[in-house]
Amino acid sequence: MIHLKSERELDIMAKGGRILGLTHEHLRPLVKPGVSTKELDQAAEAYIRSHGGAEPAFKGLYGFPGAICISVNEEIVHGIPSAKRILRDGDIVKLDVGVKLDGFFTDASITVPVGIIDQATQRLIDVTRTSLDAGIAAAVVGNHVGDIGAAIWGVVGPAGYTVADDLVGHYVGTKPHGDPQVPNKGKPKRGPKLMAGLTIAIEPMVNIGGSATRTLSDKWTIVTADGSRSAHFEHTVAITESGPRVLTRAA
Ligand code: MG
Repeated sequence: MIHLKSERELDIMAKGGRILGLTHEHLRPLVKPGVSTKELDQAAEAYIRSHGGAEPAFKGLYGFPGAICISVNEEIVHGIPSAKRILRDGDIVKLDVGVKLDGFFTDASITVPVGIIDQATQRLIDVTRTSLDAGIAAAVVGNHVGDIGAAIWGVVGPAGYTVADDLVGHYVGTKPHGDPQVPNKGKPKRGPKLMAGLTIAIEPMVNIGGSATRTLSDKWTIVTADGSRSAHFEHTVAITESGPRVLTRAA
């Protein structure tokens, strides 16, 4: 059953979500050539825990070894932080963070350039961020999850990119993941209806090349099958009578 949240519960989620947004802002300037993904992971964990009661929600979740997921270049999601993975000039890094506070989960991701990136990669980042904005704008009472997917695809498709196969947004709130799924490619008026108090993670995962994916032998990291680069932006959003409320912003 989907848990619809009261205004008070949304305020609690927003508290955790703000810590998440601040964590992204804390990490952004640490992303530099020569830094390992493990260093970023440790910085994220320390920063989240410095806020009374907040925990990195992905740590140990389904057995995940890191505090946050860090995915580089062709890695789409679920990259494992490692001392051996050193960021290089021109890379892009996706920082997917979950925060648990007072029993509620929030989930958000940003894609950050490492040093100077090429124009093609910058365009991928810009289009992906714009597609998230379009998805959020469609997260209104009376719409269906398909409308969100249609809005995202309406930006991604015309740009000549694909969305990663089988990876979708999801319910988030009382638990880290659940139904409904929130597709990144959808048909308007299809799928579960959006109701006030529903909280979901909207998260386009956009590839320069094909949509096909594969999982690395570490059993976690999902990469593009063709090795093309992928970008990811995500917010936790509440559907409310007064429109979409983004819960994972720093300010
Ligand atoms: Mg996420």
